[in-house]
Amino acid sequence: MKTQATAEAIQAQEFFHIPFWQQPQADIFSQRALRLSELAAEDSSDWQPYLQLLAAICHAQQTLLKRYAQAAWVLPSADTAEFPLTPALLTANHDLTGRLFTDLHALLQPQLTPTATQVWKEILQLGSEERSQLCQQALNQQLGVAQQDYQIWVNAVVQIIYTHAALNLAATAVKPLPEPGFCPCCGTDAVGAVIIGHGELEGLRYLCCGVCNSRWHSVRARCSFCDNSRDLGVHRIEQASDGVLSGAEAECCPSCHAYRKRYRLAKQQYADPIADDLASLSLDILLNEDGWHRGGANPFLFMGKVPRH
Ligand SMILES: [Zn+2]
Ligand SMILES: [Zn+2]
Repeated sequence: MKTQATAEAIQAQEFFHIPFWQQPQADIFSQRALRLSELAAEDSSDWQPYLQLLAAICHAQQTLLKRYAQAAWVLPSADTAEFPLTPALLTANHDLTGRLFTDLHALLQPQLTPTATQVWKEILQLGSEERSQLCQQALNQQLGVAQQDYQIWVNAVVQIIYTHAALNLAATAVKPLPEPGFCPCCGTDAVGAVIIGHGELEGLRYLCCGVCNSRWHSVRARCSFCDNSRDLGVHRIEQASDGVLSGAEAECCPSCHAYRKRYRLAKQQYADPIADDLASLSLDILLNEDGWHRGGANPFLFMGKVPRH
């Protein structure tokens, strides 16, 4: 009789190897667009148009990721930097960045609201130096109230650039950082995590980067902010038996009082840490009311709210 080994038994074997880094999927933006469309169809709140707009943006991002795959990018060589995809990537690819803005606008133009049309007019009038600076600020999560209207569009361009670069990195160039919550490729604080739902990696936690779309393994037993391993809690909305909230949880640490959201792929197979986050903000509202502080910024949220679009 054939017996089936459990995931725990396989992982306990000495030769079992947990891959530290998962390179972005080449069709990550298409997958996210699909997920956003599904979530928009389930949603009847005033968030729905925003989820639909983001689905259109993700479609355009996928088109551009493919269109620029063979462009003359200046990518980092394997060097001694703390992490491989630094802000220097933006300065080294000034011209391509400018072209991405123009092309993204051309693809999305038919769907833009009057507000977004006006914002794009301003973006396209900026000099390449100023646009590059906006990208740097978006990468460092330093866009302020004055740049709020640019946020979605600038982040969309930054994601294309860093995802392309991550797709071209060798696994040997990616090393864990001392602080586990930060992306080992581009240094960004993880937007959330997924708990793998099946296969040999079932039950493992991978943190997810909202900029370069990398995922990296981090042990579940420790807080991804302060490394505390005592009394970590998981909060979820108990009444949610299906839909996006059935897979969304928050890991809460009593030591640093921070939480990071995570998504159980066993419950919601196609959960995406950016898309599902936007459709499960009721969980954040409850946690904030209870005094927990959110860690991990979503590039498509402005201080917990939908940016003007
Ligand atoms: Zn990253
Ligand atoms: Zn902590």
